[in-house]
Amino acid sequence: MIIKDENGRIDILSLGFDELCEQITALGEKKFRAAQVYEWLHIKQVDSFDKMTNLSAQFRVRLAEVFCLKSLFIVKKLESNTDNTLKYLYRLPDGNHVEAVVMDYNHGTTICISTQVGCKMGCNFCASTIAGFRRDLLPSEMLLEIYTAQRDCGRKISGAVLMGIGEPLDNYDNVMCFLELLSNDKGMNMSLRHVSLSTCGLVPKIKELAALKLGLTLSISLHATNNETRSGIMPVNKKYSIEELLDACKYYFAQTGRRISFEYALIDGVNDSPENADELYKLLGGFVCHINIIPVNKIKERNYSSSRKNAQRFRKMLEERGLNATVRRTLGADINAACGQLRREYEI
Ligand code: SAH
Repeated sequence: MIIKDENGRIDILSLGFDELCEQITALGEKKFRAAQVYEWLHIKQVDSFDKMTNLSAQFRVRLAEVFCLKSLFIVKKLESNTDNTLKYLYRLPDGNHVEAVVMDYNHGTTICISTQVGCKMGCNFCASTIAGFRRDLLPSEMLLEIYTAQRDCGRKISGAVLMGIGEPLDNYDNVMCFLELLSNDKGMNMSLRHVSLSTCGLVPKIKELAALKLGLTLSISLHATNNETRSGIMPVNKKYSIEELLDACKYYFAQTGRRISFEYALIDGVNDSPENADELYKLLGGFVCHINIIPVNKIKERNYSSSRKNAQRFRKMLEERGLNATVRRTLGADINAACGQLRREYEI
């Protein structure tokens, strides 16, 4: 994707391989130079043109005139004492901040990244929407959340979840470009089977994504079993009802064959009754999917609470009704990695 900064320089990390080739050959350079530059950017992941040492000094100067190579500054890094979870607070080139969380699982290291600065969706239990929306993240900035963490912590990151700050389907074009760069075999080469995208339920975009048949896991933030409750906690439900959302999910499954994951943040007295379990069975019984129950993370602006005990109780209710559900283990609890805006949890 061609994106220019305020000085007219092209954001080089957001360019696809073919776009980079076009730009580099337009400078009078051979195509193999573009392959070298792409490798420096996406495999060696250097943060300046000066470090591209197999290119002539003159060419590096030219690159810096035509392109900008963004970087993220690590403002804060928190390390869990109980597991290997790391939480990064990054400063973006324009002074805004986003967070990412790196988690070790037995099948590899996964990163949870942000897709926007803030969020417009207004879910009333979520910390990242409270301060409102600032701007979309660029493809380069989403990649840099990964490259910067990988360089800093020395772990090979093999999976990504788009579950940090922001609504990924509200930043659709940039997220699609990012996924293409992330999975490109000349770069990071991450299999999209190791990527999950979480959405509050933007129905038209779910259908658009389904048609691409990308193979990533779609996570749906369901959190309620009837429209009244869902609209009360998630304004997006007033636009796209549960029925429309589930139709889109069925379409996604039909197109991709990928099992959908439903997120269910359990809130005491709001969505945790036996009637809710019955309603959930009516909605999801017979549909190939998985339900993740997460005791809601407290945020200071709301009085919501829940516990692992309640979550286990609700899981049992679902199990009795034949629904496939797990309560997620929390990683990085001591560093507040599971803080709502960057909640990150994992099935045992
Ligand atoms: N906008 C996307 C992705 C970002 S939020 C979405 O809505 O899915 C990632 C997940 O954290 C979502 O499932 C969201 O509903 C959930 N979440 C937000 N605040 C939470 C909280 N306080 N407790 C538990 N989960 C929360």
